[in-house]
Amino acid sequence: MGTQGNINESILDKKMTRAYSLDKTRNIGIVAHIDAGKTTTSERILFYTGRVYKIGQVDEGTATMDWMIQEQERGITITSACTTCFWKNNRINIIDTPGHVDFTVEVERSLKVLDGAVVIFCAVGGVESQSETVWRQADRYKVPRIAFINKMDRVGSNFYGTIEQMRTRLGAVPIPIQMPLGSEESFTGVIDLVEQKAYVYQRGERDEKKLDNFVVEEIPDDLKGSAAKERTHLVEKLSEVDDVLMDKYIHNQEITTEDIKQGLRRATLKNACIPVLCGSSFRNVAVQPLLDAVIDYLPSPIDVPPITGKNPNSGQEEIRKASDDDYFCALAFKIMADPYVGKLTFFRVYSGVLKSGSYIYNSNKNLKERVGKLVRMHANKQEIIHEVYSGDIAAAVGLRQTKTGDTICDENNSLILESMHFPEPVISLAIEPKTKADQDRLGMSLAKLQEEDPSFRVTFNSETNQTIISGMGELHLEIAVDRMLREYKVDAVVGKPQVAYKETIKAKVESVGKFVQQTGGRGQYGHVEVVVEPGARNSGIVFVNKIKGGHIPLEYIPAVKEGVESASKSGVIAGYPMTDIKVTLVDGSTHVVDSSEFAFKMAGSIAFTDGTKRGTPVLLEPIMDIEVVVPEEFMGDVIGDLNSKRTKIESLKQRANLKVIRGFVPLAEMFGYATSIRSLTQGRGTYTMEPSFYEEVPKNIAEKIIGEVKV
Ligand code: GDP
Repeated sequence: MGTQGNINESILDKKMTRAYSLDKTRNIGIVAHIDAGKTTTSERILFYTGRVYKIGQVDEGTATMDWMIQEQERGITITSACTTCFWKNNRINIIDTPGHVDFTVEVERSLKVLDGAVVIFCAVGGVESQSETVWRQADRYKVPRIAFINKMDRVGSNFYGTIEQMRTRLGAVPIPIQMPLGSEESFTGVIDLVEQKAYVYQRGERDEKKLDNFVVEEIPDDLKGSAAKERTHLVEKLSEVDDVLMDKYIHNQEITTEDIKQGLRRATLKNACIPVLCGSSFRNVAVQPLLDAVIDYLPSPIDVPPITGKNPNSGQEEIRKASDDDYFCALAFKIMADPYVGKLTFFRVYSGVLKSGSYIYNSNKNLKERVGKLVRMHANKQEIIHEVYSGDIAAAVGLRQTKTGDTICDENNSLILESMHFPEPVISLAIEPKTKADQDRLGMSLAKLQEEDPSFRVTFNSETNQTIISGMGELHLEIAVDRMLREYKVDAVVGKPQVAYKETIKAKVESVGKFVQQTGGRGQYGHVEVVVEPGARNSGIVFVNKIKGGHIPLEYIPAVKEGVESASKSGVIAGYPMTDIKVTLVDGSTHVVDSSEFAFKMAGSIAFTDGTKRGTPVLLEPIMDIEVVVPEEFMGDVIGDLNSKRTKIESLKQRANLKVIRGFVPLAEMFGYATSIRSLTQGRGTYTMEPSFYEEVPKNIAEKIIGEVKV
């Protein structure tokens, strides 16, 4: 019903033309350690590409990209927003990425849909802790990068020192393609080593509104010598990673500007080097050359390998080329609630074309949906578009069922792209709304938050009447609570973040559940016999019906299952959800008059609770897979500290001149670890952790936890 639209329509209609060819499209992310200047640089990019006419200042909380209040107050960027701008006849889609470690899911989802990245470093701080985390994630997704060393105007800035750190700390092959003109207070521009020109800036303060705030000049005489030396260095370094240039170099052939550019592009695309630029976004110095470098060195959608996915019908792997002529295939990577148009589904088109008003096929959910409107997001406004082509990013209005990570495609040629990986949330907190009206608003706000962020979960504990929200880390929940209180004006008592424990059993037992009430008139009668036993890891609660001879009519079986599931939500030790338990229904009995679904549901619950009580119940805690990277001199202290936190160290490796410690640690021991690692390593250690599995809590610790819950 109502699905007469034809998704092929868009592919067959060849009259449409695209405004920007694929090679003139860039999908990039700007990634950085918090405070390195990502927001300021994004702002300046939007200004110089002509989209925003007043430069926003992060310090004043008016930055265009950071439109969520929390982000403005904290001065950090949390949610990925995709913003489109134009530079010298190219279209650049900027996918904003968060820098905080709690938001690695957000970073990863952005890295999945972008083709290249600009990594911003602070010229004073150099390669800071989280730069390394983000760098490793970009390595994992093989994202080609260029580096921008920002804040060159600050006292203590060090261009070459930062480059050295990129080499030693990140194991990168940085190739400077610029040289700073002046330093600190007198930093006025850059020398382009490829073109051999100087970009000299009139240094602006806050209200600098001129688009052409620089002149291109000859390299000043006193710097000609060092610039020539640096250029030779560039060619030598590049030859080491690019065969074409190496060939010319060893044969003493002339190497032109164009040769260098092409060589740099080839080497960057295959992740063999990182072109390094510098500037001061805040002072409006050298942002335009950064945009040139995005076009010159970062990949267009046709420079990256074609996307692969699974054909849901044949199970075979198939590829989709970055071409308008291939079948439509896109990945929904972000859902956002927009105050004006409602729900926006951001998607990256890998192949084919999509028109507004047509239908898409969601191959994960096996359903069709109509695309109401298509919009392109500019930082502060939306532009309605009529079609979106391969390699581009847009947002759709009207997709109700499509969730983050779903593939949307041509119905007759469907494909399922590899979805994003969302770890189970491991930390939770309780919320108690003050009034009924607050309860309603809470429900609404949580539904919206959940839709936007698949790593955020909501459950309700009917015994305590508390709503429990769960997520990936302390800050993750803090931001969610903040939005709920502010945007949705929920008045509520909010608990402290807690480890999301679970419960399971270790022994197999038989259990009987009887719910019988005979109080005159119609009574209740439900009787079940079950076997309750430990299940496989990560299997959750598995219910199997093995009842023979119709002792319980089939119509009541789902009610028994429901009863079991509902009882499993609150475990017998301390009320935590139970998991990894297999329940087999083996027998029972029924009463012609008194039996009901309700009675069998109750009987199921009783049998489960009684069984788990006797089945040697234990408490489970989330174990994190942790990687700590530290300079050698701090290794002893860091390992000592990890050992005191019940860490099982798995391996110790060398990376560049750093030690990489890998292990498994209970989350309960890791509250505030960001602070302790900083103080243990003078700020030089970094770590990443991800939920890995649940494990039994040692007895003495379990007793303490249970004691606290019971108080
Ligand atoms: P983000 O956390 O990476 O998004 O960083 P922001 O763009 O919010 O910048 C952090 C702080 O550094 C703000 O106070 C900026 O004004 C300041 N900042 C950014 N770029 C520069 C720069 O080039 N020079 C100087 N001196 N300060 C800068």
